[in-house]
Amino acid sequence: YFRRWSQEQPRGVLGAPRSVRVPAGVGSGRVPARADVSGVSAGLAEGGETAGRKRFADWKRAGLATYDSGHDDLAGDVTSRLSPHLHFGTLSPTELVARARRSGGSGAEAFVRQLCWRDFHHQVLAARPGAASADYRTKHDRWRSAESAGEEIEAWKAGRTGYPVVDAAMRQLRHEGWMHNRGRLLTASFLTKTLYVDWRVGARYFLELLVDGDIANNQLNWQWMAGTGTDSRPNRVLNPVTQGRRYDPQGGYVRRWVPELSALAGAAVHEPWKLPKAERARYDYPDPLVELAEGRDRFLRARDKD
Ligand SMILES: Cc1cc2nc3c(=O)[nH]c(=O)nc-3n(C[C@H](O)[C@H](O)[C@H](O)COP(=O)(O)OP(=O)(O)OC[C@H]3O[C@@H](n4cnc5c(N)ncnc54)[C@H](O)[C@@H]3O)c2cc1C
Repeated sequence: YFRRWSQEQPRGVLGAPRSVRVPAGVGSGRVPARADVSGVSAGLAEGGETAGRKRFADWKRAGLATYDSGHDDLAGDVTSRLSPHLHFGTLSPTELVARARRSGGSGAEAFVRQLCWRDFHHQVLAARPGAASADYRTKHDRWRSAESAGEEIEAWKAGRTGYPVVDAAMRQLRHEGWMHNRGRLLTASFLTKTLYVDWRVGARYFLELLVDGDIANNQLNWQWMAGTGTDSRPNRVLNPVTQGRRYDPQGGYVRRWVPELSALAGAAVHEPWKLPKAERARYDYPDPLVELAEGRDRFLRARDKD
C-alpha cells in the first residue's frame, strides 16, 4: 500500500527538500560536522539503528562482564549509554534482553534488571498518566518552589553546591547531556530532600538537558527519589559525602568534572571543608550550601507534620 501510495504522489513529495527557506531573523548555515560538535561524549554521538546495534555490540564485548560489579562506579563508567537509543526507539529492549542473555553471566542478568526498571516506569505511567506532573503517592509536601529557593536551585544547576560529587554530576549533565545513574540519584536526593525543593523543578531541568530525556523514566525516577513515587522507603536521604566515598572512592569522577579540586588526591576531594584553613583558601570552590543535618531535619520535620 505504501509503495503504491508513494508512486501516486507527485515527484518530490517524499524526498528531502533541496533547500529550506528560513523565516526572517533566523540565521542559516551549514549543518555542523559531528567532529565540530563539542560536549557529546562517546556512545551518545550517533543516532539510528545501525549505530545503536554497533554501540551495543562494542559495549557487550567491553562492559557487559563487569556491569554487575561496576555499574555504580562513577569514575569507571561502565554502563552501556544505550538510553538515548532506547528512548528514541532505535534499539528494541527485547532484542537487547535476548542478545545479553545469549552472552549469559551475572553482568547480563544485572543489565536485564535495569531494563526492567525502564519497563516498570513505562507501565506505571501508562496506568497513571497524571504521575507525569502530579505526585504518584502524595504526602502533600510543602516543597520549596522555584521562587522561594531560587539561589539554591541556581547553585544546584550550575554545580556550585559545595558538595563535590553533586557538583561533578551536575556538570557532567551540562557538558554531556547525560549523567550516570548514581549521579542522577544523588543529585535528585540533594535537590528534593536536602534542599527540600519541589521534584518538578529538577525533573524539568533534567528534561531540558538530557539526551535520553524521557517522561516515564525521568518523572517517575524523580518521584521515586523524592519519596512521592513507588519507593518502598520514601524517607531515604542519600548523603552526598557517603555516596561520594562509596561510589567514587578514589575521587576520580570529582576531579574529572570539578577541575578546581583536581589537585586534591584520593577521597579527600569529597570533603574540601576539612582541609586546614590556609590550604582550603587555595581552592576556588564554594563552601557547602547547607549543612547536611540541617537539610535532613527540615525534610523529616516537614514529613512528620502529616
Ligand atoms: C532522577 C533520575 C532521572 C532519570 N531520567 C531518565 C530519563 O530521562 N531517561 C532515561 O532513559 N533514564 C532516566 N533515568 C534512569 C537511568 O539513570 C538512565 O536510564 C541510565 O543512567 C542511562 O544510562 P545507561 O544507558 O548507561 O544505563 P545502563 O545502566 O546501561 O542500563 C541499561 C538501560 O536500562 C534502563 N535503565 C537503567 N536504569 C534505569 C532506571 N533507574 N529507570 C529506568 N530505566 C533504567 C535504561 O533504558 C538504560 O539505558 C533517570 C534516573 C534518575 C534517578
